[in-house]
Amino acid sequence: SVDKEKSSSVAKIKVVVRKRPLNKKELAKNEVDIIETHHNALTVHETKLKVDLTEYIEKHEFVFDAVLNEEVSNDEVYSETVEPIVPIIFQRTKATCFAYGQTGSGKTFTMKPLPLKASRDILRLMHHTYRNQGFQLFVSFFEIYGGKLFDLLNDRKKLCMREDGKQQVCIVGLQEYIVSDVETIKELIEKGNATRSTGTTGANEESSRSHAILQLTIKRSPDGNESKPPRVVGKLSFIDLAGSERGADTTDNDKQTRMEGAEINKSLLALKECIRALDNDQGHIPFRGSKLTEVLRDSFVGNSRTVMISCISPSSGSCEHTLNTLRYADRVK
Ligand code: ADP
Ligand code: MG
Repeated sequence: SVDKEKSSSVAKIKVVVRKRPLNKKELAKNEVDIIETHHNALTVHETKLKVDLTEYIEKHEFVFDAVLNEEVSNDEVYSETVEPIVPIIFQRTKATCFAYGQTGSGKTFTMKPLPLKASRDILRLMHHTYRNQGFQLFVSFFEIYGGKLFDLLNDRKKLCMREDGKQQVCIVGLQEYIVSDVETIKELIEKGNATRSTGTTGANEESSRSHAILQLTIKRSPDGNESKPPRVVGKLSFIDLAGSERGADTTDNDKQTRMEGAEINKSLLALKECIRALDNDQGHIPFRGSKLTEVLRDSFVGNSRTVMISCISPSSGSCEHTLNTLRYADRVK
């Protein structure tokens, strides 16, 4: 069928790199842009020291599905990543878009506009192509912090997860808002973003230790009979991952920081393994490795799509973190 062709023409896994511009802080420190981009490839120019302390440049080359340089707008990021997936959400597909990278690399800048653009397109399809077919759109937004779940649309209420034995994940008590206009979605997204862990040390510091998960779910009553409870048709999840450098906080003096670091490390490793298993069509998906992958369990089985946006800073001072991010992305693809 046409539907089937449409869904199979969208790659199962897409790995995209986004490079942001140098910022004021980096420029003030005389840091330079060490990332050269060309089409879907990029080269990192790493400065190294010889034994006699003279400098030399080591080049590292990578190829991805797409490389988006500092001139690429958020609209173009959307067209390259999420837009092609939106129509297949109506064809029983679950799709997930991740932003991966060190703190300050542009994950939140990249992710924030995507759910709004996607819901605009979803509502357009519901009101035109699928008019009067009983589809409904729901929004939920929660975070995983230190291995625990908190509802970002309900005052950070603590949530727990349950499996229903049919490979469906149920997050008990999670608020799901039914939405039919873009303005309401915008308000919910803003509310959720404002509720993300801020702690006492300031927003970026704390939010870098949590994974934020925004889900757009399409449901429909069986046989178009609205007296029956609606069932999930498809789902689109947006995940603003914890700062990848946080996974290395496992030797910190502070016990809390160390525990959080270990949890982040575990979840990012488990995520990589799950995506790789998806790509190889392995029967066994190792989602039990972490809370993050358990929560996403139903998005890893059946007809699923994954987009990984790896965010990088161009600066010489971030070279090591950037190489780590690119190597992670390389393993996923
Ligand atoms: P992260 O969420 O990965 O910690 P942010 O998204 O908060 O990083 O980005 C850090 C800073 O860099 C923010 O001030 C953001 O506005 C800016 N920034 C990130 N990406 C871009 C970009 N592509 N163009 C312009 N500014 C950007
Ligand atoms: Mg952020």
